[in-house]
Amino acid sequence: MMTLRDLKEGEKGTILRIRGKGAFRKRIIEMGFVKGKVVTVIKAAPLQDPMEYRIMDSDVSLRLEEAALIEVMPGEEITRFDDKPFSGVVETKQTARKIERDPWTIRVALVGNPNSGKTSLFNNASKSREHTGNYAGVTVDSKTAVIEIDGYTIHITDLPGTYSLTHYSPEELFVRQHLFEYQPDIVINVVDASNLERNLYLTTQLIDMGIKVVVALNMYDELRVKGDHFDYMYMGRLIGIPFVPTIASKGKGVRDLFRKVIEVYEGKAREVRQIQINYGTDIEMALHKIITRLSQGEEPKRLLSDRYFSLKLLEKDGEANEILAKYKNSKDFRSDVDREIGKLENTHREDSETLIANARYGFIEGALKETYQPGSREHKSLTWSIDQALTGKFMGYPIFIFLMWLMFEATFFLGEYPVKAIEFAVQWLGQQVNRLIPGGIVNDLITDGIIGGVGGVIVFLPNILILFLFISLMEDTGYMARVAFIVDKLMHRIGLHGKSFIPLLMGFGCNVPAIMATRTIESKSDRMVTMLIIPFMSCSARYPVYILLISAFFVSFKGAILFLLYLIGILLAVMMAFIFKKTVFKAQEMPFVMELPPYRMPTLRSIMKHTWFKGAQYLRKMGTIILVASIVIWALGYFPRNSAATPQEQQEQSYIGRLGKFIEPVIAPLGFDWKMGVSLIAGSAAKEVVISTMGVLYHSDGGDEMSSLSDRLKSQAHLSGSLAGQPVYTPLVAFSLMVFILIYFPCIAVIAAVRKESGRWKWSAFLALYTTSIAWIMAFIVYQGGKLFF
Ligand code: GDP
Ligand code: MG
Repeated sequence: MMTLRDLKEGEKGTILRIRGKGAFRKRIIEMGFVKGKVVTVIKAAPLQDPMEYRIMDSDVSLRLEEAALIEVMPGEEITRFDDKPFSGVVETKQTARKIERDPWTIRVALVGNPNSGKTSLFNNASKSREHTGNYAGVTVDSKTAVIEIDGYTIHITDLPGTYSLTHYSPEELFVRQHLFEYQPDIVINVVDASNLERNLYLTTQLIDMGIKVVVALNMYDELRVKGDHFDYMYMGRLIGIPFVPTIASKGKGVRDLFRKVIEVYEGKAREVRQIQINYGTDIEMALHKIITRLSQGEEPKRLLSDRYFSLKLLEKDGEANEILAKYKNSKDFRSDVDREIGKLENTHREDSETLIANARYGFIEGALKETYQPGSREHKSLTWSIDQALTGKFMGYPIFIFLMWLMFEATFFLGEYPVKAIEFAVQWLGQQVNRLIPGGIVNDLITDGIIGGVGGVIVFLPNILILFLFISLMEDTGYMARVAFIVDKLMHRIGLHGKSFIPLLMGFGCNVPAIMATRTIESKSDRMVTMLIIPFMSCSARYPVYILLISAFFVSFKGAILFLLYLIGILLAVMMAFIFKKTVFKAQEMPFVMELPPYRMPTLRSIMKHTWFKGAQYLRKMGTIILVASIVIWALGYFPRNSAATPQEQQEQSYIGRLGKFIEPVIAPLGFDWKMGVSLIAGSAAKEVVISTMGVLYHSDGGDEMSSLSDRLKSQAHLSGSLAGQPVYTPLVAFSLMVFILIYFPCIAVIAAVRKESGRWKWSAFLALYTTSIAWIMAFIVYQGGKLFF
C-alpha cells in the first residue's frame, strides 16, 4: 500500500485512509487529513525529517514515521467519494440552556484555531478599556477583558487556540470546560478566511453544541489578496450563523463584530437559526436510537444537549463515556451504544470517530461549494520563496544559528545602557534612603534587603524585554514554527518535540521566561520534561559567579573551563530528558503535526503589546517573589542581633550562619566550608546572590580593607581540623563549587514558575530535590575524583 511517505517533493496524492489511532489519528484528522483530500509534498527539513506538506489551505509538518500511517493514491483523484454527501442542515427547536444573569452583561468567549487572530482581536477590542487580567488554568491560560459598547458591559475571554473540541489535548478540554461551565452567552468563532475549510471544522462542533455563535471572518484582507470570492452572507444564512468580516491586526470590523454580538444577544439578528448538521442516514439513525434511549428513564444532571451528548457517545469521547457510566442502567445503555457504533463501523469499515469527522468535512465541503470560489492568483508564493532559504537544506541551519547569535548579542549589547541607567537609579535610591532614614534596622532592611535584592533583579529588565521583543518577532512573523520544524529531528533523538527547543534556548538567558515559553508545547508530558531540564541551561545569573571563580583560580584555559560548564549542563539536560521519557513520562508522544503559518508582517503595535504583556508578567512575578526572598534572607543574616560583634561574627552567629554550620558535614565531602554553604543557601533566591553573600562573609577578617573579593577568596585558610593552615579554595574546590552552582536548586522564581505552569507544587518540590541531588553527586565526583589526580 502506498503511503504519504512514498511521495517525492512536489508530488500530490489523494488520501485514502489513516492508520494509527487515538490522539495521533484525531490530531491528523482535525488538521484536514481526511479521506479524499489532496496532499502536496512541499519539502523536507534540512535533516530530511520531518516533511512539510500542503493540505487544504495550510502548510503542515509531519514526521516521516507519521506520514507512513497515511495511505494515499498518487495524483489528484477526480471522482468524489460517495460517503461524503452534503445533506444540508436540519432546523431544530432545541436551544442551549440559559442561566439568568444581569441582562446588560454579555459574556463572550473567543474560540478559534491557533493563529486565526484571536489575540489580535482581543487586544484590539480591549484597548480602550484598561481592565485586563491573567487567570491561570490548570495547564493553560485565558485572559479576560471588559469593554463597554452601547450600554452593554461585555466580558471577553481569549481562550487557547484549538483545531477541535475533543478530549485529547489539555487546551481542547480547557476550552470545552469553559464553554460548558462558564456558559458564555455568545461565542465569537474567529475564522481564518484564507483557510476556510479547516477553520470551519471547529465551527461545526460549536453548532453541535447548540451554542450561540458569531463568526469573525478574520484575515479578510488575505482573502481579498488571493482573489477568492466568498459569499459569507449566504453561508451565514445557510448555517444560521452571522459572519462579520474583520482584519483583527488593524482593528477593522471589530466594532461591527460586537454590534452583531449585541444584536444576536438581543435576539434581533435575522441570520440566526438553530440548526443541526445532517450527518447522513446511517449516523443520523444511530443518533436517533441513542437520543430515544436517553429520553427514557432517569438520568444524571447533564449540561449537554441530548443530541450533542449522543454524538459524543458515538465518537467514543472519554468525558461522555464517564457521564454515561453514572447512569443507573449504564450497562444496558453502554451495550446499546456499542451496538450502534459496531453497526456503523461494520457498514463503513471505518472507525466511528473518523466517520463523523469525515461527515463534518463533507458538510463543510458542500457548504463551501455553494458559497466559495478560490481565486486564480497564487498568493502563497512569497512564503514559499522565503522558506526556500529559511528551512532550506543548506541555508536553514546557518541562518538559524546567525539569528540566535544576533538575539543573544543584542540582548546584552542593546541592554547595556538601559541596564547601567537602572543600576544608577538603584544606587541613587539607596543613597537617598541613607540620607533620609537614620541608620538602624529600617535603613538596613530597605537598603540591604529590599533595594539590594529587588534592585539586583530589576536591573535585568532591559535584557529580558529585548529577549522578549525578539521572541515576539519570531513568533509573530511565523519563524518560530520553522525553527521547531528544522530541529525536530535532533530533539526527537532525546524523545522530545521540535517545539521544546525554543524554551531550552531561552533558558540560557533566564530560566523563568523559558519555563513560561513551554506553553507552546501541546503534549503535557513533553512539556513537563522540558520544564524539568530547562534549569540545566546555565542562565545569565550564574555567569558572574563563574567569572569570579574562574578568574581567581584558573590561570590558563579560562574560556575552555567556562565552555566546559555550559557543556556539562547541556549533557545533563540531554541525559535527564532521555531518562524521564523512558520512565516517568512515557505517555504517548504527540504527533508532530504542526502548522507552518504563512509569514506575516507583524504590526508594530502588536509586537510592542506582546512584549509588554510578557515583560509586565515577569516584573510582577519577580517583584513579589524576589521581594519576599530578599527580605527573608536578609532577616536570617541579620538576626539574632549582637551589636558588639563584627560583621563577620554577626554573620556567623546569625540564623543563616548557624544553618551554614549545620549543613557543613553534608557539603564537606564536596570540598566546601560553611561559608560556601551559606552562600549556596542564599543563592537559592537568585544565583547572583551567591556572590553578594560571599562578599559579606569574607569581608575584612583582618585582611587588607581594599583587597578584592577574588583576592580574599585566595587568602582564605582553614582554621582548624586536619586541613588547618591550608587554603580553603583550590582550583579543584572552585570547579566543584561551580559545578554545584550550575546544577543545584535553580532559584525561587523558577520554582514558582514551575508551580504555576504545571499547576502542582509536587513538580516544584521534585525539581528542587532532584537538581540538588544531582548537583551533590556531580560535585562529589569532581572533588573526590579530582583529589586522586591532583
Ligand atoms: P491567535 O493565535 O489566534 O491568538 O492569533 P494572533 O492574534 O496571535 O495572530 C496571528 C498572526 O496573524 C499575527 O501575526 C497577527 O499579526 C496576524 N493577524 C491577525 N489578524 C490578522 C488579519 O486580519 N489580517 C492579517 N493579514 N494578519 C492578521
Ligand atoms: Mg493567541
